Amino acid sequence: MALDNLRDLYQQVILERYKKPRNRGKTDPIDRYQKGHNPSCGDTIELTLHLSPSGDRIEDVKFEGEGCAISMASADLMAEALQGKTTEEALDMVQRFQNMMKGEAEFPKEQRKLNVMQGVAQFPVRIKCANLSWHTVKAALELKDAQPAGFISNE
Ligand code: ZN
Repeated sequence: MALDNLRDLYQQVILERYKKPRNRGKTDPIDRYQKGHNPSCGDTIELTLHLSPSGDRIEDVKFEGEGCAISMASADLMAEALQGKTTEEALDMVQRFQNMMKGEAEFPKEQRKLNVMQGVAQFPVRIKCANLSWHTVKAALELKDAQPAGFISNE
């Protein structure tokens, strides 16, 4: 990979988020818990969600895990973007993010921070890194109850 490409890939925001994540930790209470793993890179993520009493709105999202800058920055940006969203809106955003990784979509102005991940679409081997947290939150939202053993792989 050429240096210029690397520079594009690890944009300032991605590195900044990787070094100083704003949404690391666990929610209190934990209404959903989901682990995700990306074997092709070795990224792992543990997502916790706090939902509204009716269960249809995300009050808070936090993540823990280890992985490359892209996977961790993507998780941090996602956690921020999903706060206050309804389950339905969140699932739409998952779809949009996955489409963005295919180069087919981007986020509107109010969610434009997520567009910093757009450059990853040019690097097929890293797309799974960027998608991991989104793939994992989708699984978490589609569960009916918190399942502590929940573990998914995106392979
Ligand atoms: Zn990775």
